[in-house]
Amino acid sequence: MSYVDEVYSKTVEDNPGEYEFHQAVKEILDSLKLVIDSDEKKYRDASLLERLIEPERIISFRVPWVDDSGHLQINKGYRIQYNSAIGPYKGGLRFHSSVNLNLLKFLGFEQTFKNALTGLPIGGAKGGSNFDRKGKSEREIMAFCQSFMSELFKYIGDDLDIPAGDIGAGSREIGFLFGQYKRLAGLHCGALTGKGPSFGGSPIRTQATGYGLVYMLENMLRRHGKGLDGKVVVISGAGSVAVHTIEKIQQFGAKVVTLSDSNGYIYDRDGIRLDVVKQIKEVRRGRIKEYLDEVPTAVYEENKRIWNIPCHIALPCATQNELNLQDARTLAANGCIAVVEGANMPCNREATDFLLGSNLLFMPGKAANGGGVAVSTLEMRQNSMRMSWTFDEVDEQLHKIMAEIYEKTSDAAERYGVKGNFVAGANIAAFEKIADAMMSQGFV
Ligand code: GLU
Repeated sequence: MSYVDEVYSKTVEDNPGEYEFHQAVKEILDSLKLVIDSDEKKYRDASLLERLIEPERIISFRVPWVDDSGHLQINKGYRIQYNSAIGPYKGGLRFHSSVNLNLLKFLGFEQTFKNALTGLPIGGAKGGSNFDRKGKSEREIMAFCQSFMSELFKYIGDDLDIPAGDIGAGSREIGFLFGQYKRLAGLHCGALTGKGPSFGGSPIRTQATGYGLVYMLENMLRRHGKGLDGKVVVISGAGSVAVHTIEKIQQFGAKVVTLSDSNGYIYDRDGIRLDVVKQIKEVRRGRIKEYLDEVPTAVYEENKRIWNIPCHIALPCATQNELNLQDARTLAANGCIAVVEGANMPCNREATDFLLGSNLLFMPGKAANGGGVAVSTLEMRQNSMRMSWTFDEVDEQLHKIMAEIYEKTSDAAERYGVKGNFVAGANIAAFEKIADAMMSQGFV
């Protein structure tokens, strides 16, 4: 059995029932076969893949907080410090009822590769809780965040581990977490990113993932003789990634016709109205169904697949495994030319393989959504230099970073004889950097 296959079998055996984790490991290992098989002994002797797959440290803790009726609630809290070969641990905190160790291991593993691909000096991490802010009062959310940080603060720091947001953890939650961090650590430093601009945050962090996604998409289309102007776009999700993707892609002349949340999707054939979406999501913190109150000509569907809507470009920006093989086939049959992942691993393996075998352009999340963590790293840079950059200055750097990610991804694919396979390209380019750092640092 090849080294790669052996390590995969062992991963499944040692981590039973952790399907998303197996899925993420398999996708990456399959791409790495191209690299490992040519020099198997070197990697096997260093147990490099085993070390890459096993997180450096997993922290698991209890999060007690008091709800508005005076009852003590208990949530689970985690931080996975996955890999620090190329820099301090970096990655978001996900607060959602689905959070468990399996999910965070998949996300942390992916993050290690995504972060390496940005070209910036950051290792990989992920954390979070099974706490769900939906239906909670502002005070309850603050109480939870303060309790979560009371434990987490022991393990983070601006040169050690720098958490940020993810699903369920936006600028409000990061603000509460930072307030508590500052109080406990007695330091005002960049130990968290995604902070408000008035206390050390980057002016463009909220927009960064969505904007970066569109820069990547535009770049990829342009390299293939295509453009965004006049294209019809289907986007899933209604969080910060989806909203800022809509904002930027509209500036390029494309028309977004959908958005969705966990209850259903909105289809607006005239083009989604961003002002209405922002009002619902950012001001009222409501559900997207409320879009109909402002735009009665739109349609709201609860039990239908969003990917059945004909489009030129599909951008899954909601969550993992939201686009399956049937969806991918439907998109292709409807004339879709590009699928770019805004979420982490939103296309399942069968869909990914289908897309790679079709003539659609497909860009995986770890290349396409790296703009968020890249701007987080610029925020760290600003904090340690005690300075701030303007919106335009950071936007320009983001543009450049996304173009470089595209270059590295496409170049690695070409070097290994799989031109246009950006999944292999992204995994290989990231691996080359992490492997080099790990090999140089000895057996740790
Ligand atoms: N949660 C985001 C991601 O998946 C951002 C992480 C960060 O900024 O550290 O990349």
